[in-house]
Amino acid sequence: MQQIHHLIDGKPVQGTDYFETVNPATQEVLAEVASGGEAEVNAAVAAAKAAFPKWAGLPAPERAKLIRKLGDLIAKHVPEIAQTETNDCGQVIAQTGKQLIPRAADNFYYFAEMCTRVDGHTYPTPTHLNYTLFHPVGVCALISPWNVPFMTATWKVAPCLAFGNTAVLKMSELSPLTAARLGELALEAGIPAGVLNLVHGYGKEAGEPLVAHPDVRAISFTGSTATGNRIVKSAGLKKFSMELGGKSPFVIFEDADLDRALDAAVFMIFSNNGERCTAGSRILVQQSIYADFAAKFAERAKRITVGDPLDEKTIVGPMISQAHLAKVRSYIELGPKEGATLLCGGLEAPSNLPDRVKKGNYVMPTVFADVDNRMKIAQDEIFGPVACLIPFKDEAHAIELANDIAYGLSSYVWTENIGKAHRVAAAVEAGMCFVNSQNVRDLRQPFGGTKASGTGREGGTWSYEVFCEPKNIAVSM
Ligand code: NAD
Repeated sequence: MQQIHHLIDGKPVQGTDYFETVNPATQEVLAEVASGGEAEVNAAVAAAKAAFPKWAGLPAPERAKLIRKLGDLIAKHVPEIAQTETNDCGQVIAQTGKQLIPRAADNFYYFAEMCTRVDGHTYPTPTHLNYTLFHPVGVCALISPWNVPFMTATWKVAPCLAFGNTAVLKMSELSPLTAARLGELALEAGIPAGVLNLVHGYGKEAGEPLVAHPDVRAISFTGSTATGNRIVKSAGLKKFSMELGGKSPFVIFEDADLDRALDAAVFMIFSNNGERCTAGSRILVQQSIYADFAAKFAERAKRITVGDPLDEKTIVGPMISQAHLAKVRSYIELGPKEGATLLCGGLEAPSNLPDRVKKGNYVMPTVFADVDNRMKIAQDEIFGPVACLIPFKDEAHAIELANDIAYGLSSYVWTENIGKAHRVAAAVEAGMCFVNSQNVRDLRQPFGGTKASGTGREGGTWSYEVFCEPKNIAVSM
């Protein structure tokens, strides 16, 4: 059995204990993974602290060269990393191989370039010249969930290292394999020992001591709102970026381009197995087109291929774990009890699964109509392929429903009326709004949410917020 170790100060470190990581499509044990605790966290933070002065002191173009090299190595190994990712977390190969892993390489290219272009601000006054410097922060804790693990890890590692920080990365215990590979590739790229450390393990044993460690200066966390809240309480005074849960509204007005809106709505709830923080999971449809939209949406959902995630044709793969499958199924069971109408999907397992994946954690793409926004299926983040279709009367009603939710991560507005598009985009309480579009990530844009979806933004210069320490220097004239 393959064993995965921690990576501390450039060396693989065995665990005192191990846990298994399981292929969610087959239930096959893929590897035994070292399970870290306070001792490993302390060693990793000490290594990151020791490596910091030299790494931060390197001229940015030299750091950039190594970071670009890491991007090259990822690009070179896309098929291998994509396959590992698909096996470890169930995201389909069409996504991991063509989108997620290649884009991870881009994350390193982007921030390699950007770290050589960090600028400052000047605020001249008659008596003083003020200017800012952006220093690295120091040791950063990077904590990642399981849904798109490699992409999320690289979103954090690339800016963190590029701006001169050192890191301790803790992946989800449910999908640690590709990040372990990232650690190896970082060393192969020539990134010095101690700059990127990895401690594997559970949230309580490894995550808690990491975020509470006094030498950790910044935390970039992606995960659930519940864990985010816990970390904010226990970590003490540190810089934070909290990328948390979502239940994003996908608003379709009667004057929308319906075919395009349908395609995007289907994509935003069923791609990535519905395990997507920015999923358009509350689909708000204007009353006048509601029945027509619901019928067409369910028709498309029924045609989605559920199956072996290693098959290029598969759109929806298995849920990450049996526990998560049970959670998703519990909401599918709840829907009709709350008064929603099941249009397709439901509790029956998909038929015609290939033998290889017959034991997988599968759920059919499920569509509920006649959903009231106050139902639990509309308010809770299900994090699976379950769509809620909610009717609305007019613009004011759409905004009211869109905002009647604890979360505020992403939002989507579909209308051909340009004024209405801008008004609704401005009024919706969310960190991001996509107009007549599905979620398209541009690395320059501020990514993140408001309300229970988090604090802080990452991407482009917004990443300064967590990974840089701005210093004002005031010179008397
Ligand atoms: P989770 O909160 O259970 O775990 C996330 C990470 O935190 C894991 O590595 C876990 O081990 C660790 N952790 C758990 N308890 C901890 C603690 N007390 N201290 C420190 N670390 C701890 O989330 P999950 O189930 O892995 O991921 C799904 C959630 O992530 C969903 O809510 C989803 O919306 C969210 N998510 C958000 C974004 C975003 O950008 N906003 C992106 C992807 C996923």
